[in-house]
Amino acid sequence: MFDTLSDRLTSVLQNLRSKGKLTEADIDATAREIRVALLEADVALPVVRSFIGQVKERAKGAEVSQALNPAQQVIKIVNDELVGILGGESRRLNLAKNPPSVIMLAGLQGSGKTTLAGKLAMHLKGKGHTPLLVACDLQRPNAVTQLQVVGERAGVPVFAPEEGNGVGDPVDVARRGVDEARGAQHDIVIVDTAGRLGVDEEMMRQASDIRDAVQPDETLFVVDAMTGQDAVTTAEAFRDGVGFSGVVLTKLDGDARGGAALSVREVTGQPILYASNGEKLADFDAFHPDRMASRILG
Ligand code: GDP
Repeated sequence: MFDTLSDRLTSVLQNLRSKGKLTEADIDATAREIRVALLEADVALPVVRSFIGQVKERAKGAEVSQALNPAQQVIKIVNDELVGILGGESRRLNLAKNPPSVIMLAGLQGSGKTTLAGKLAMHLKGKGHTPLLVACDLQRPNAVTQLQVVGERAGVPVFAPEEGNGVGDPVDVARRGVDEARGAQHDIVIVDTAGRLGVDEEMMRQASDIRDAVQPDETLFVVDAMTGQDAVTTAEAFRDGVGFSGVVLTKLDGDARGGAALSVREVTGQPILYASNGEKLADFDAFHPDRMASRILG
């Protein structure tokens, strides 16, 4: 992911290194090339516009340290702006003062929610928490069994409807799951919910009903970074239909352009908390805007 964007930006910025002093024309030309690189990587147009506006304004101003040469100054500005669109500071998971904390996962079918539930559970367990997974995806065939399998791999118990896959009321299961966590002293509950292949009113209603029933401390919108501009439109639909407090980018190991996923923070105003980059439970980490920006700038 981001390889093309990374190559393009690196070569645009490399071209500046040979210049002793940057004229306004140099800055404009560089900004144009960065604009093309971002658009080709699928970064959303409004995000590209504000990014380029900032880079130009700052590069033409004299705000950067005199200790840097002109090329280094522009690289620093581009880096700062990339960190900015990715959210600035890393944001930690919001936990409740009185456990259990409830984390609800929402997103389209196939976005990687169930896999992520296992990854997050294992990650939190590794930090000394005692999570419980709750299977509220009663839509997708085998989703309950799949969660039980990832739960077993992660070494984390799963609360599931007695009936198994595809039956029962997800709102009731969510509520009972949280009660179970409270009774059994789990400090975090991770609620997996049903998605559909596309944005759909019934899915939004169900997710909203679960949200109202369990009052999550964190609702994480899970988005497949390989879905191009759909990532942005889906994020907007979930923001308006269910609301969320954070984003998880999945499938960052794919070879797509990925820029749309990079736009989700800026477009929705909600921070990216985690990134998932593979099918194995360990392919997962907290998202750090500064590290991602450095990776993109090579
Ligand atoms: P859900 O429908 O949202 O619960 O999605 P799943 O968790 O079932 O994931 C859908 C598919 O994507 C499965 O085949 C997963 O193995 C795969 N998957 C999930 N996360 C990642 C990831 O970060 N990278 C890759 N390459 N595949 C992933």
